[in-house]
Amino acid sequence: MKSYQKPSSAKCSATVSFDLIFSDYLDRSISEHQRILVENHLTDCPTCREAVEEMKTIGEMASELVEVPIPSSVQQRLRDNLRKQLNDQLFKQEAKLVVIGGGRS
Ligand SMILES: [Zn+2]
Repeated sequence: MKSYQKPSSAKCSATVSFDLIFSDYLDRSISEHQRILVENHLTDCPTCREAVEEMKTIGEMASELVEVPIPSSVQQRLRDNLRKQLNDQLFKQEAKLVVIGGGRS
């Protein structure tokens, strides 16, 4: 029997079940047994190899986005500014209330 070449867009039949494991595989949070299964499968399945590569890229991009620490001095300044703005707003509202309340008599 001739070996049949799948079109590249077709999903590997194992992808559905492996999809769940791939992210854990990349996080290294799967068991040794599962890791070997995944790696064996990746060796002879280009479809899944591509999927894992894609996940890896996305994961790296995501972690780069998350790992932008805000310096504590900036955090402090933001908080101070916010508090000041809130105080100003509250003060203005109170002043308005006083004017309205004491308008007529
Ligand atoms: Zn596969």
